[in-house]
Amino acid sequence: MCRLFVCLLAIVVPALTATSALLATPAAADEGWQCADRRVDVTAPSRASAAIICDQADKARAFLAGCGIEARHPLSVRVTRDLSKSAGWRKSGDFDASTGRVRLLPFLSYLRVSKQKPSNTLAFARVMHASIAAHEIAHGIFHERSAHLDLPETAHEYVAYVVQFATLPPDLQKSLSEQDDLPAVTNLFMFSFFLLRADPERFALNAYRHFHQPENGCGFLHRVLESRVHFPPPSD
Ligand SMILES: [Zn+2]
Repeated sequence: MCRLFVCLLAIVVPALTATSALLATPAAADEGWQCADRRVDVTAPSRASAAIICDQADKARAFLAGCGIEARHPLSVRVTRDLSKSAGWRKSGDFDASTGRVRLLPFLSYLRVSKQKPSNTLAFARVMHASIAAHEIAHGIFHERSAHLDLPETAHEYVAYVVQFATLPPDLQKSLSEQDDLPAVTNLFMFSFFLLRADPERFALNAYRHFHQPENGCGFLHRVLESRVHFPPPSD
């Protein structure tokens, strides 16, 4: 069985650059910036860190907008070490639906908690760290459209992981789509709460593979928003 991070190691990861979301003038607070589209405020330890987050926000918004799911409200993102443990794991990022805020671990903290394999390159770790910003921002955008629904956590995570993978370099995405040693993701029982907790990498890979099947894609996201599909209940 091929685990995500192992499968991706063979891929040459390009240096991470933020090119499409140059920052506007800094906001009033120290270390605060506003992304160029003025829809995302970022508090980060450096301009470079903020630029990467803005770039990931652009990618997340563009992906969901391509599915007709537009971001309507501004988001704020804060890079902070102050992220609590969840289910025994230190989180790399989160989205607080009550405040509409995203929090992300700084890169060095992420390196410590993410248990990177010795063979992982720093460039690979940086790409994966950046993709977490897209994941959490995707939560924020999708929540705008789904707050009135009683969707299970697994439905939200499905969407966030699909967006996260969409922001990865094309070679990484291609390597995922070409893996043929994994079973087809044919039904939603493969998105159980248990799997999400026990093996989030596999859950993420399942989401990517399921979304890219011809019968799914953007239409599946809309069926989720129309409550026409049902993820397994948390007890499963
Ligand atoms: Zn998530």
